[in-house]
Formats: sequence, C-alpha cells, structure tokens
Amino acid sequence: MTSATNPSVRTRFFDTKIEFLKGVGPQKAALLNQELSIFTFGDLIQHYPFRHEDRSVFHKLSDLNEQMTAAQVKGRLREFSVIGEGSKKRLVGTFQDGTGFLDLVWFQSISWYEKWLRRGGEYIVYGTPVLYGGKWSITHPEIEVLTPENASAGYWQPIYPLTEKLRKKFLDSKALSKMMRNLLEIAHTHIRETLPAPLVEKYRLVSKAQALWHFHLPQDNRTLHQAQRRLKFEELFYNQFRLIKNKLLHKTEYPGLIFDKTLLVKEFYEQHLPFKLTGAQIRVLHEIHEDLKTGKQMNRLLQGDVGSGKTIVAFITMLFALDNDAQACLMAPTEILTDQHYQGLKKFADLLGVNIAKLTGSTKKKEREVIHRELLNGTLHIIVGTHALIEDAVQFKNLGLCIIDEQHRFGVAQRAKLWAKNKRINPHMLVMTATPIPRTLAMTLYGDLDISAINELPAGRKPIKTVHRFDKNRLQVFGFLKEEIAKGRQVYMVYPLIEESEKMDLKDLMDGYESVARAFPGVPLSIVHGKMRSQDKDFEMGRFVRGETKIMVATTVIEVGVNVPNASVMVIENAERFGLSQLHQLRGRVGRGAEQSYCILMTDYKLSKDTKLRIETMCRTNDGFEIAEVDLQLRGPGDISGTQQSGLVDLLVANLAQDGEILKAARASAEEILTTDPDLLQPVHQPIRSHLENLRKEETNWSRIS
Ligand code: ADP
Ligand code: MG
Repeated sequence: MTSATNPSVRTRFFDTKIEFLKGVGPQKAALLNQELSIFTFGDLIQHYPFRHEDRSVFHKLSDLNEQMTAAQVKGRLREFSVIGEGSKKRLVGTFQDGTGFLDLVWFQSISWYEKWLRRGGEYIVYGTPVLYGGKWSITHPEIEVLTPENASAGYWQPIYPLTEKLRKKFLDSKALSKMMRNLLEIAHTHIRETLPAPLVEKYRLVSKAQALWHFHLPQDNRTLHQAQRRLKFEELFYNQFRLIKNKLLHKTEYPGLIFDKTLLVKEFYEQHLPFKLTGAQIRVLHEIHEDLKTGKQMNRLLQGDVGSGKTIVAFITMLFALDNDAQACLMAPTEILTDQHYQGLKKFADLLGVNIAKLTGSTKKKEREVIHRELLNGTLHIIVGTHALIEDAVQFKNLGLCIIDEQHRFGVAQRAKLWAKNKRINPHMLVMTATPIPRTLAMTLYGDLDISAINELPAGRKPIKTVHRFDKNRLQVFGFLKEEIAKGRQVYMVYPLIEESEKMDLKDLMDGYESVARAFPGVPLSIVHGKMRSQDKDFEMGRFVRGETKIMVATTVIEVGVNVPNASVMVIENAERFGLSQLHQLRGRVGRGAEQSYCILMTDYKLSKDTKLRIETMCRTNDGFEIAEVDLQLRGPGDISGTQQSGLVDLLVANLAQDGEILKAARASAEEILTTDPDLLQPVHQPIRSHLENLRKEETNWSRIS
C-alpha cells in the first residue's frame, strides 16, 4: 500500500494535538479541550459551523429596513459618549456612511470600547439593525477597523458553536476561522475522499477536501452551497448506509419463525370481520404477511393516523402467530393506552375464543401469577401490557410476535429485551405509531425498519370540519354548541396546561369552567385535569362516556385514551399555545361516530406568522402526514413530537426539513451499493471501508471521553 491510500497515515496527521497548530498554543488548546472537546486536528476540522453570515455585501444605511435580521455597513464613527445611570448606563456612538446615520450601543465592556474606539475612525459594523424612535441602532455590534484589505473583500462568516467562556477569552467565530485557515492550509493534502468516485461524479459533488475548505472558509454563496451539499450528502449517505446495513443484516442473519398456516386468520376473515377493510389495511396486511413467510425476522413500522384502524391490523397479525402455535404480545407506553388496546383487541379475540389478558403495574399479585403461569404453559395466547411485560418473571412458551405501540417512548434496549423472551428464535417485531412521521424523519429514525403506512381512513367517515374563531366570537360559538347539544351531541372544551405556568393555567381552566357553567345553565358538565386524583378523574370521565354530562371541560389529559363516539364537537381554547401535531392529536378525539364532527380553534386576535400557519393548516387538512410535514418545516426535526428522546437524529449538517431530496439520493445510493457489493470488496468502495473504520474509531474515542 502506498502512503497516499494508507488510512493510518491520514489518521496520524489528524491525531496531532491541537496545541501544535500555528496560533493555538497550550492555553488556547486547554480551553478548546475543556469547552469544546477539541483535542486534535481531526476534532477541529470537524467542528462545523451551524450557520454562515453573509458578509459579502455592504449595506447602505439608507437601505436598512425592519425585515433585516442582520446588516453589514462601513463608514465613519463621528462621536461617542457614555450616557445613562446604573443598568441604563451605556456607550453610544454615532456612525455614518454618507447615506444615513446609525447609533452603536454598548451596555457591556464600556471602558474597553471607550479606549479602543477612535473619533473619526473608519469601521466595518455588523449586527441587527433596530428602528427606535425614528433612529436606527445596533446594540453590541461586531466592529472592526476598516482596512484596505477588508474594505472590499466580502466573505461569509461561519458561526461556530461556542461557549460563553470562550467568547470571554476572545475565542469567537472569527478567531476560530483563523485557526481553521491555519489548519486547512496544512491539512489539505491529508484529506482523503470519503465517497466512492462514481457517486461524486453522478451527483456532481465537490471533493471532501474542497468541501471542508469552503464550509469553513467560504468565498461566496456558490462555493458555500456546494460545500454544504457535499457534506450533507456524505452525512446522510453514512447515516443511511449504516441503517440499511443493519436492516439487511437482520434479514440475512436472524432467522424468523415461519408463519404460513392461516386457520384463525381465515375464520376471522370469513366469518367475523366487523367491517370491510380499507384498501390500505389490506395492503399493509399483505406486506406483513409477506414478511412472516420468509423465515427471516420481521422488523416493520406501521404508521397510521388516529382512527385509521391499526387495531384490527394488529389483531390479524397476532392471529398469524397464533395459527402457528406462537404467542403474541403488545406493549404500550401507558396504562391508559394499554387499556384502550386491550379493550379493542378483546372485542375481536372474544369472537374467536382466543385468550387475551392485560398486564400492567397495577395488576394484582394473584392475577399476575395466573398470567405468568398461563403464558409459560401456552394457554394464554395474547398479552397486552405496559413495560411490565419486560420483567424477567414474564416468560412465554413460544413468543412469536411483539407489537410495540409508540415506539419512540421505548428505547432500543427495551425492544431487545422483548426479543430475548424467545431464546430459540427472535420473535417478529411490529412497531406502531399513531403520530404520522414525515418521510424524511421516518427514513432516518426508522431507517432500519421496513415501513408500512395506513394512509386512508375507513369509508363513510365524515371528515372533521375545522374552523378558526376569535375570542370575541365566543357568543356565536356558544350558540352553535347549544344547537349541537340540543341535537344530542356532546362537546369537549380543551384548555392548555403547560408545566411552567400550571397555576395560571389552572385558573384559566377554572374561569373557563365557570363561564361555561353560566353560559349553559342546566347543562350537566364534567371537568378533568391533571391535578385531580385519578379516582375523581375516572369518575368524571365515566359520566361523560355514559352521556350523563354534555360538556367536558378539560386539559390535554384527554389527548389519549378517551373514545366517546357521541362527542362530535371539540373547542380548543388558546389554540395558539398548542403545537401542530398536538392540535391534530386532540382533534382525533372527535370524528369517531357517524355524525358530522367539528373542531373549533379559538384564539386571540393577534397571531404570529407561525401560529397563523398552524391554524390554517389545521383548517385545511385532516391528513396527519401532511400536518407532520408542516410541523417539521416549522419546528425542525428536534422538536417533532416523539423524537426528542430518541437521540437518533443526530445530524450536524443536514436538515431533515429541507434536505429530503439529498436524503432520497443518499439512501438510494447506499441501498444500491449494499445490494451489489455488501462486503465492499470492489476497489471503488474502498473509501467507504476506511471511512466506516474511522467513524468507528471516533465513536470509541467519544465513548471513552463521555
Ligand atoms: P387507530 O388505532 O388506528 O387509531 P382503531 O383501530 O381504533 O384506530 O379504529 C378506529 C375505529 O374505526 C374503530 O372504531 C374501528 O372499529 C373502526 N374501523 C377500523 N377499520 C375500519 C374499517 N375498515 N371500516 C370501518 N370501521 C373501521
Ligand atoms: Mg389505536
């Protein structure tokens, strides 16, 4: 092997300690170690900026407008002085560029700036311009002396993740840029291509070396964009490569029970089917059945909006197991959800004489012992439960299928514990989620699973009508509610309740309850909120379920677990305070019966742009997948309901809200390579082998540090 292709040579260069970089030295090195865990050249070069500021143009002061988030101007500082007292004390400078004036304001480091600034000096100033009392100002601007070099050289400034301590020691983004330049100048020849040449060509990507250069030291918008595109592709390619590799490994390495007998399935299908399955339900059942026949372990995600009919799909999947002398379990994250699943499945199970039981933390010891025994001797066919199912005492005669609801609330480790309940052969896995996940997120979050989606609601279901009303239209809304109640329907009125302001919210809820009571004299009401004892909650809920009360005033505790088909109207108060996915989940509580259902979103008059979009989206569509897409655009992947704790979408450069196309291409490429050359034996795939090796090394290093 020549030194140019020997990965160890590269590794050695990038393993060089950061203090040996020109301009760093022991003190700065110690800071970089402590604050950013940057120890080596390799660590520094991979310390990626999270955005870039456009310093390629100078704005004229006469062109400033309030939409600008940032502006760069060059001009002369005429005057400056300290004004105000105490916390209002500030240094104010008057800056001009021949087209207008700008105040520069400092509340901090006043004496330092007083010494450093020169009256009549020329500077470049950068910051967010604010119009106040007819005058433009920038508070704590970035400021540097205008020189012949920087007067014309426009550039893009990378903004790096930093800490307060680093900033105090003047290790800011500019300082980091200088280090990057020093590093890149010597590192350039050591940077190896990490993608196979055919991919680089096909997608017209710039080389890894060029990409790193222009990502850290962009010259213009075009080179920056090319660098980003290349690094995003690489990141997503390796993300997908590893997920798909895992998936293929499961398919080839792990044998699965073969479920080819279909006695109960047939009986249920031919004699007991309570309704005609939707096309989507049938398609998904086919996909599942195909998996179950292959002799390989199934690992499938089943997505479907609330009410799309996942229960019957889950049940029929269980029947495949039962037909082949295996047992099935379903695990849900909460007692309420467990109960709901149990009720739904039991209805079907009873039709066939199939034994089913429920196991949760509150199952009595006696009952629990019976369940344990019957699972072990095989007389209990289906068990539905919370994570109580994972406990060692729960042993099966022959567990053949695990269904997990709301996967994201369970860790991968818990998934694995369930698998281990069959020592002979891994049970098949079906993961269900009721929160539709945008395609890009599903690919990265569940890329190691096959995906099925029920994207169709049962026929005859009337779409929920959603409208937006302002608080001042409350009388009209109440009038409408009265009409609906007179027709025999029931109503939910939902109030927000979020942690930080619980007391306030509780007061809002109580005030709301009282005003509803005044507006609807003689109408029996229920109230439910999270601060109530659970017996009281159940009691109130029970009255509403039985139709004894007509209006349920509640917080979001009703989000999961209630099914009252006669409740056909939902009013959501302060709808601006809910996230899009949450609004959609809440709305799923109505529209469960034969009647036309309504969702009324109440808000204040003044709404932010994002809130308007949320409300508009709700009014426009009932499609959970579409809503999830908008939610992703608004909030970014980190905040989408359910993914917060997963820690799986850990992307530095790519953005799942924007990079769907790149992700698709990266996934297709990874798939193709893994099918044609799974062991990466072809010489063109050598870069993948070495890069995977490096990634593994980095990960072991990290696990040692943290
Ligand atoms: P999910 O669990 O996906 O939210 P469920 O399985 O609870 O939905 O189904 C919602 C309701 O729709 C249930 O009352 C169920 O009986 C009914 N349902 C499911 N599939 C169909 C269908 N194909 N035709 C008519 N009703 C259906
Ligand atoms: Mg369900």
